[in-house]
Amino acid sequence: MNDVDTRSVAATQPIGAGAWRMLVAFVRAYPGRSALALAALLVAGLLDGLGLSTLLSMLSLATGDGESPSLPEELALEFAGALGITPTAGTMLLLAIALIGTKAILVLLANRQVGYTVAHVATDLRLALLRAVMASRWRYYLAQPVGRLSNAVATEAQRASEGFRHGAVMGAQLLNAMIYAVVALAISWQASLAALVAGGVLLAGLNVLVRMAGRAGRSQTGLLKSLLGVMTDQLGAVKPLKAMGREEHVDALLARQIRGLNIALRRQVFSKEALTALQEPLLAILVGVGFFVFVVSLDMPLAAVVVMLFLLARVVNFLAKAQRAWQHIVVAESAYWSLRETIHAAEAEREPARGHRAPTLDEGIELRDVTFGHGAQPLLVEQSMRIPAGALTVIVGPSGAGKTTLVDLVAGLLRPDRGEVLVDGVPLADIDHRQWRHMIGYVPQDPLLVNDTVLHNVTLGQSELGEDDVREALELANAWDFASALPDGVHTLLGERGGRLSGGQRQRLALARALVHRPRLLVLDEVTSSLDAAAEAAVIDTIVALKGRLTMLGVTHGNALRAAADHVYRMHEGVVSANGADNERADDDAR
Ligand code: ADP
Ligand code: MG
Repeated sequence: MNDVDTRSVAATQPIGAGAWRMLVAFVRAYPGRSALALAALLVAGLLDGLGLSTLLSMLSLATGDGESPSLPEELALEFAGALGITPTAGTMLLLAIALIGTKAILVLLANRQVGYTVAHVATDLRLALLRAVMASRWRYYLAQPVGRLSNAVATEAQRASEGFRHGAVMGAQLLNAMIYAVVALAISWQASLAALVAGGVLLAGLNVLVRMAGRAGRSQTGLLKSLLGVMTDQLGAVKPLKAMGREEHVDALLARQIRGLNIALRRQVFSKEALTALQEPLLAILVGVGFFVFVVSLDMPLAAVVVMLFLLARVVNFLAKAQRAWQHIVVAESAYWSLRETIHAAEAEREPARGHRAPTLDEGIELRDVTFGHGAQPLLVEQSMRIPAGALTVIVGPSGAGKTTLVDLVAGLLRPDRGEVLVDGVPLADIDHRQWRHMIGYVPQDPLLVNDTVLHNVTLGQSELGEDDVREALELANAWDFASALPDGVHTLLGERGGRLSGGQRQRLALARALVHRPRLLVLDEVTSSLDAAAEAAVIDTIVALKGRLTMLGVTHGNALRAAADHVYRMHEGVVSANGADNERADDDAR
């Protein structure tokens, strides 16, 4: 499974290239924020350098060793002069303190800015994914494992945004390294260059560990994706598994991914720790060798060597920190690309904004020669039927006949391959789909309630709907009595999937949810099929009481709803026929 998941488009690019492209994408998406953060860090670095130079010249002044000031000292003296400060050991010390203090404040501000941007990156990625998925075609959405989407929103967005943080850290460290390198080169370019090349070679050798971390990051991304996909699926079906004592199969199913994840995490930890552990001694050795070469072989004055080595050790130390940040970026890279891929895929499946005519529903809905198939094989072939306005039309047919498909065609969730759905004589293709769906109250086969209050389950978070609307809808759906009798009334929490309610109560809540925005068309998909006879009769009474208020389309495999219908159609293997034609066969199948 790991192989399949990591073999994405993003994973085909070399690890470093992918990480680099991610950073470029971040800078493109947040040019102002990135520039501001880097500029603040650059100024901070400069102030730090200047502060240290000032300290240096303070030392020279204090020891009376100031006849031949080095370049940094000259710079510091000039800077003090420009500020109108007479350079003495005391004033230079104060100036150094002021510079270093200002630097600290700037670094704080820059880091805060980076932190905010990290949150921004995560938020933007999450919203982009959510919007793209919500705007995608119904058929595409159906094929998405929910767990993968939650994984993308949670872990991938988090990891990707961390990439931005480490990108900023790396940028800052590289800038610092540059500033110090320039100063060191100004003191002795030969010695500095030699030291820098040696340091660069050592760090390049450690790049193996960066690539190792990148591979571990990729396998984590793939494993998390499939783990959360499988897990969410399995947790949704845990009741039968537990009831039949088969929960250990879930364990076996997930164990492979969890163990794989453990291996990947261990590799990531090892490469990270190994990089830190190896960087330090190598840098110490470098400084030792440099000291030996400068003092013993090149016979440079001790004071100059100390300054040089101090500067060079800082440069290489900055480079080492930049490399550690780069390692983090490389780990985050795959999460970013995986998330981007999910967003792109959903955007490519975006439901086009079709039609612009405002819908009306005064006459009725007509299916005219509609042909549709979920795959290559057509399910409905040139089927026609009418759903007159203001009446209850019921389609009876066995499971698998294509009833839900037909309903989804009417709602515009699916589009006919050939033929048309007409609403008041206007092809649905010309009608603004959003407006049309706003006119529909939909009660699905499985009344999916969310773990929230009754109120929220009815409004689905639509804030324009007040408690009065909810009460009215609950009364219409015959749900007010039980809902108001709950411990906290409509503010009672319903538990996972509405676990606190009986099947019939759940169905009524779903009905209230469909009625709360005062639809013109009420679609009822097998609303009574999971209920016992008494609950079924009660729900049907509720539906009958709604007659005349709105147009209703009900599909069912049973007979109870049919008895209440004004118009009945039968459906069998995708063939719709007016009541009477092949009654017996459909009835037999229904049983
Ligand atoms: P009903 O609601 O009458 O039980 P459906 O409309 O749900 O029937 O399904 C009709 C047929 O279409 C079934 O054979 C089902 O397997 C198939 N089908 C339904 N939805 C899909 C889908 N998203 N992809 C592929 N086949 C589907
Ligand atoms: Mg169905």
